[in-house]
Amino acid sequence: MLFTYRIPEGMTVRVGQRVSVPWQRIYRLGYVISLSETSPYQPTRKPKSAQGELFADSVDDLRVKAITAVDDELPYFSESIIRLLRWLADYYSVGFTLALRSALPAAVRSNGAKDREIYMVTPLNPLPPKLPPLTARQRHLYEEIVRIDGGRLTQVCEELSTTPQTLKKLAAAGYIRCERTVVARSPLKGRFIQSAVMPQLTAGQQRALDEILVADKPCLLFGVTGSGKTEVYMRAIAKTLEEGRDAIVLVPEISLTPQTVSRFAARFGKTVAVLHSALSDGERHDEWHRIRRGEARVVVGPRSAVFAPVQRLGLMIVDEEHDSGYKQDESPRYSARDVAVVRATMEKARCILGSATPSLESWRNAMELGKYCLVRMPERVGGSVLPTVTVLDMQQAAHDGRGVPIFSAPLIDAMRNRLERGEQIILFLNRRGYAPTYQCNHCQTAVMCEKCSAKMTYHVKDDTLRCHLCGAWMRPPTRCPSCGSPDFNRFGFGTQRVETALHAILPTARIIRMDADSTSRRHSHDELLAAFRAKEADILLGTQMIAKGLDFPNVTLVGILAADRSLDMTYDFRAAERTFQLIAQVSGRAGRGTLPGEVYVQTFQPDHPAIRLAAACDYEAFARETLQQRQDEEMPPFKKLACVTFIGSDAGQVASAAEAAAKRFSACRGLMVMPAMPAPLEKKETLWRWQILLRADSAKGIAAACDHVLPKQQRVTDKLRILVDIDAVFLA
Ligand code: ADP
Ligand code: ZN
Ligand code: ZN
Repeated sequence: MLFTYRIPEGMTVRVGQRVSVPWQRIYRLGYVISLSETSPYQPTRKPKSAQGELFADSVDDLRVKAITAVDDELPYFSESIIRLLRWLADYYSVGFTLALRSALPAAVRSNGAKDREIYMVTPLNPLPPKLPPLTARQRHLYEEIVRIDGGRLTQVCEELSTTPQTLKKLAAAGYIRCERTVVARSPLKGRFIQSAVMPQLTAGQQRALDEILVADKPCLLFGVTGSGKTEVYMRAIAKTLEEGRDAIVLVPEISLTPQTVSRFAARFGKTVAVLHSALSDGERHDEWHRIRRGEARVVVGPRSAVFAPVQRLGLMIVDEEHDSGYKQDESPRYSARDVAVVRATMEKARCILGSATPSLESWRNAMELGKYCLVRMPERVGGSVLPTVTVLDMQQAAHDGRGVPIFSAPLIDAMRNRLERGEQIILFLNRRGYAPTYQCNHCQTAVMCEKCSAKMTYHVKDDTLRCHLCGAWMRPPTRCPSCGSPDFNRFGFGTQRVETALHAILPTARIIRMDADSTSRRHSHDELLAAFRAKEADILLGTQMIAKGLDFPNVTLVGILAADRSLDMTYDFRAAERTFQLIAQVSGRAGRGTLPGEVYVQTFQPDHPAIRLAAACDYEAFARETLQQRQDEEMPPFKKLACVTFIGSDAGQVASAAEAAAKRFSACRGLMVMPAMPAPLEKKETLWRWQILLRADSAKGIAAACDHVLPKQQRVTDKLRILVDIDAVFLA
């Protein structure tokens, strides 16, 4: 909520500062978002006042109270961030408070995570003279501590299999120091950081970098997989730091692996901050403040890092800019890529959007509208060629044998061949919009969640059917609940079944399976990849998780199973675009080293343009065809699209509210309104859902119509919740 406070005589208050203010009978912290000479409540007097943001629920006191104290000299928000958040609130049709919240990590907002003091072990080296002698074991321990250069007490104990008592004895003897110190909780600590030899840029990279450095608008860096985009990013960052300005690098959450992070850390050292959803609150708190204080000047993080409080933004990078993970999935539903472009423009910073398969929005901005510079890197570093792609028709394979096999014969042959040569294989199971379900072979009924209109998903590990929306679970029934037929079983296949089938076909192959189930422990993702890199396995089998950002020189074969699973358009009119991106990204994993790569794509729709053109590695033809189609259908990027969802427990009430709103939208000029309909996901966690799709030439037009038809204050009531999603990505 926004409140107005008076600035007392003698106090200096700046925009963005956190201040302590009286609120009802207590004191609370708030953020100053604007200063004004006048107060809205006492227009005749003219005290200096500050309008601020206080995270509170209600206000009824209109007397203007005074700010008690400035909590921290250094502002939490720069004026430009506040300007950005005002833009965001308007564009996405949300309240300013919500926009402000998204720019401040909960760990910072709650003030719960404080600076931390922990015990650190430091070896004395060289040793002072005349120390008491040590036993052989103590001497050995001391040498080990010197070797690892000490560290956190707990970590040293774990690494050297010793106890705090033993270390304290060493400390008492004067060989090491063991004391409490304030340390920043750094997510990079304890990570092995490779040496940072800077490679000579290839001609293609140099050309791209030069174009980026002189560009006067955002650059779309269209570089095939393996063209060395990251090196170009790093040179642009180095240049930015030299100019005394800071850089933000956005990467998709899923590719924010230690591998990515350590590449940046190796080059820029302590000046790198990582903002990561897997960080502890403490780590996030410390990293955020390190950025705010200017101690970290290169920020690497997922979408929320677009708001990182760097002081002088000079460069904004959005890697894999097409990734749908940049869309925030709760209100405000901003696209971090679009916010990045707006922020960079407002702060006069350079901006790079990088991808091998740009979103059609960005492609059109570059090719047709001239809003972006198009910078191309069509060649791979070291001249390795893009892999050859073979499309395997599974309909055909099914006719040859009994039912649809998991693996077609050519893929099995290719795998055998790689195993013989000691080369590695990646198998990718497309799981988007898909999960193994239980289905009746007699009446085709699938087991549904009782509370949600979603199919239950089968999990082998504990033999359960689970609803991924509400968490409900049950044992799989032995007979069809609808017709009683016993011919009732698992339908489709997941990674676990693929793994079992692989063992049967290739008994000697060493397999690493990577999916959400096998990587729930915090570091196990990295550990599995490290093992594969160290050639401890022949086959890496996984889901979307392994689709991007990984670089394995010894992988010469990539198999894509069920490539067409993501072609289902129910929830996503960009389904074809995603399928293309997926195949292109996954293929990019093959033949990254000196060995040539091969890709096999198994599909039931070999002639679908997304599959045909992905196999031909022809992004431009795909973009042309798909853009034409979108234009004919008046869909994005030619029109702006918004999805308004009505949610409530009373089905009739939800439907009539949606229908009434649709009628009022129809009266708005310049707005294309689809009839109100049940959402594809009609029921979720016992609540009914209806939606209206809106299209217009500008997002402004849509936001204005939404503000008019559904004023923000009326969107949440006891009975009904209305969500507005501008530039909607998933229409579920
Ligand atoms: P992209 O992100 O475009 O797919 P990467 O940035 O991952 O490509 O680069 C692919 C590989 O090429 C990486 O192993 C990287 O270390 C290497 N590389 C990049 N630039 C150079 C260069 N100029 N000289 C040598 N190796 C390079
Ligand atoms: Zn049945
Ligand atoms: Zn459910």
